[in-house]
Amino acid sequence: MSDDVFDCPFTYANGCRCKGTISRARAYGRSRGRNYPEREDVRKYRLWCSLKSDHAGAVSSPWSKQRMEFYPDELPEPLLDTLWRNNALK
Ligand SMILES: [Zn+2]
Repeated sequence: MSDDVFDCPFTYANGCRCKGTISRARAYGRSRGRNYPEREDVRKYRLWCSLKSDHAGAVSSPWSKQRMEFYPDELPEPLLDTLWRNNALK
């Protein structure tokens, strides 16, 4: 297990980046009968923040649920490499 730490990608409406770090991640996509998809089959990643969990806030809406969901090309390659290397996406 490595101790690579990545900043939470969430940006507030006022333009400030969240000061938290990514505490947990999940991959969603075609799983071909397994519990989670292979990297090339991932359609979306969901991240959790060390400070604000899923950033859903007090008001739950379809939009707030998607705040911490990202397409693979929206996330930096080093982050994805680390998540996969650490087997952190189950
Ligand atoms: Zn955050």
